[in-house]
Amino acid sequence: MKRFDIITIFPEIISAYAHESILARAAKNTLLEITGHDLRNWTTDKHRSVDDAPYGGGPGMVLKVEPIFQAVLAIKKMGGKKKRVIVLSPQGKQFTNADATRLSKEDQVIFICGRYEGIDERVMEHIADESFSVGPYVVTGGELPALLIVDAIARQIPGVLGKQASLEEINGSFPQYTTPREVKIKKGRKTVVASVPEVLLSGDHKKIAAWRREQEKKGSS
Ligand code: SAM
Repeated sequence: MKRFDIITIFPEIISAYAHESILARAAKNTLLEITGHDLRNWTTDKHRSVDDAPYGGGPGMVLKVEPIFQAVLAIKKMGGKKKRVIVLSPQGKQFTNADATRLSKEDQVIFICGRYEGIDERVMEHIADESFSVGPYVVTGGELPALLIVDAIARQIPGVLGKQASLEEINGSFPQYTTPREVKIKKGRKTVVASVPEVLLSGDHKKIAAWRREQEKKGSS
């Protein structure tokens, strides 16, 4: 059983996503476990403070290092031998499918989600093993980036996708269609009839496979 432990100040965001669809089924089949941990559980003051103003001044607040350090220490004890600690940051390395494959071999992956103006840099320097960005843009917190990464890793764990699904590569997908064969779509004053490509209706599996390969090439060029 792989463990994904996500340290956040909004653990409900994690459980909402983890309890649906493929991830929920994988958890039910004991292939993985996804837990959101409330960072405030590792605070020591009566206000349960997780953030403070930055040294040197500037707007906003920064997540403090000590609660994160204590959280990681405690959560590491919950997992198996092979573990990685990841911090989510717009300055991190761009996450790829190759990272997902590599991380799917770990027993436990721990994520640290930032909020506000970010995280005390000492977390990146001394606590995390690596730092990932999910793209060249800034979102409000690390929860969505963490869930994106967990989802991508989970798809690489044997058994998670079920029998029929394939471990597609980024460029390995082709256009898909379903019923009806034709649909009328209004675009301003015009109405367009959008049809399914004839080859997919032909029943000729060789031709369909060739068409799909062609489309994959187009997608990757
Ligand atoms: N200026 C801050 C910085 O550069 O870290 C922005 C902080 S952002 C509003 C709050 C948190 O969201 C970050 O600490 C990080 O955990 C997460 N975050 C935002 N954009 C991200 C991205 N593209 N990839 C990964 N995490 C991101």
